[in-house]
Amino acid sequence: MTLIKLEGLTKRFGGLTAVSDVDFEIEKGKITAIIGPNGAGKSTFFNLISGFHRPTSGSIMFEGKDITKTPAHIGARLGIARTFQTTHLFERSSVIDNVIVGHRLRTKSKLYDAIFRTRREKREEQMAYEKAMTALEFVGLADLATMQVATISQEAKKRVAIALALATDPKVILLDEPAAGINPEETDGLAELMKKIVQNGITVCTIEHKMQMIMELADQILVLNHGAKIAEGTPEEIKTNPTVIEAYLGG
Ligand code: ADP
Ligand code: MG
Repeated sequence: MTLIKLEGLTKRFGGLTAVSDVDFEIEKGKITAIIGPNGAGKSTFFNLISGFHRPTSGSIMFEGKDITKTPAHIGARLGIARTFQTTHLFERSSVIDNVIVGHRLRTKSKLYDAIFRTRREKREEQMAYEKAMTALEFVGLADLATMQVATISQEAKKRVAIALALATDPKVILLDEPAAGINPEETDGLAELMKKIVQNGITVCTIEHKMQMIMELADQILVLNHGAKIAEGTPEEIKTNPTVIEAYLGG
């Protein structure tokens, strides 16, 4: 089943076409990987799906609804969560406080009855704490909850960023190079975490350069080059695709 359907997705920055006429479908309950050289448009692709950028042309359907013009905070409420290539965490705050902020992003209501404000706020705070703790347990960081982010490892920070996204109860999580800058053993751990996320019914879409990891992990792969889709398919299909080998895998 299709969760996200993209048609003719295009993003231009002035004269530069960062994403060029991409048709693609992200399957529900699967792990999709986006690969391609630096500057191929992968992060921009995520920025479009998550509503951080508006497409120049083309459309984005999420669960059959047109979300092409939906801004990021609404996208988050609909169930689209993401991490960034560079993790933006509050280094001086605790791990748990960072995750709680992620939860607020989604649950904060605009219309809100002043009379019930205090009671509701208390309830929301408790809920946010519980959500955050559950997310931290899920990514294996419950023990670090009260640690200051500045003092934890790079790999743990990556997991905090994922916990932050998970705390919003997403339907899909977009991970922008989660394995960049971590060692092979940690990369294996991250692959396991992605499998666990999918097993919990959350669709995973990840941008990754670690080819071996992707080939073992992904159900479907989208290959971008100069903003355009040059191939899509299963790892087996991608491995043997002549266009991909020429453009990306280098023969
Ligand atoms: P990737 O993630 O595959 O490395 P990006 O999506 O970050 O690629 O970038 C694709 C192209 O779009 C690059 O040439 C980059 O310089 C350009 N680009 C990305 N974001 C912006 C922006 N906000 N303004 C102008 N150009 C951008
Ligand atoms: Mg990028």
